Amino acid sequence: MAKKIAISIPKGGVGKTTTAVNLAAGFAIAEKRTLLIDFDPAGACALSLGFDEENMHGDIFEVFSFTKFIDAVVHKTELPYLDFIPCQIKTYDLEERINRLSRNIYLFSNVLDQQALTKYDFIIIDCPPYMKGLTTVALAAAGSVIIPIRSGQFSIAALKKMFDQIEWLKTNINSELKVEGILLNMYEPRTKAWVLTMKALTRHYRKYLFKSVIPKSVSISEAEFYGKPSMLYDVKSKGSIAYLNLTEEILNKNATPNIYRLDGAGYSYLK
Ligand code: ATP
Ligand code: MG
Repeated sequence: MAKKIAISIPKGGVGKTTTAVNLAAGFAIAEKRTLLIDFDPAGACALSLGFDEENMHGDIFEVFSFTKFIDAVVHKTELPYLDFIPCQIKTYDLEERINRLSRNIYLFSNVLDQQALTKYDFIIIDCPPYMKGLTTVALAAAGSVIIPIRSGQFSIAALKKMFDQIEWLKTNINSELKVEGILLNMYEPRTKAWVLTMKALTRHYRKYLFKSVIPKSVSISEAEFYGKPSMLYDVKSKGSIAYLNLTEEILNKNATPNIYRLDGAGYSYLK
């Protein structure tokens, strides 16, 4: 049975998509069979993996609307262990329809429980930057959630909202939902903003913080332009190493010891 991890916080631009793509790539590099599902109508995961209109054939909402089977919308990626299901909502009409469909809170859980997905070790779900609607549907189906944040008072406020929502979901919809961890992204420890953010975080959320942090790294944003996860763009960059460390931390926490080596031995696709 796949471990289903949603990447979520009701705040834009904190690195949800970046984390979804690079963590999914990290698991795949560790030879865990991984499926990344873009659940945000903005559809940004596709760009980060080098997909465009021409080379996509269906998305997760076609499965929702019973127009395609899940197998038909799974896309192979450059990494042999990583598959991808995009989100391609092109018109306002379609977005409205999806919003109506997502009132059925268990629809996505049913989709993820299909036999066709039992072959995966991990399913990573990239959520939109708001709490209601699609995010609730995603969190109803997930086993755990990773909450990426960047420095700032707004991040702390969003974190509080996120924890309130998780409590509500646990009580009303998904008693199994766990917090996998809070991920510090674009981490710059010497800035005052981060010192203040850390002060607030350690007071209330210390036990949830991942040991691994993701530094601000130009290679992470450059890799996006080339449609690649950071590790396939520059595996030795500090951003790539940070995401590989996070992968290892999560694998260790979930008692599936990691097998990749940072010297890249045996991994011809790591340059
Ligand atoms: P949205 O809420 O709009 O979906 P998001 O939370 O998914 O946003 P991303 O799209 O992953 O955020 O990241 C926002 C921008 O920040 C992107 O351009 C990405 O390249 C950049 N970024 C994310 N993490 C880092 C990092 N560690 N170092 C440098 N740039 C980063
Ligand atoms: Mg995003």
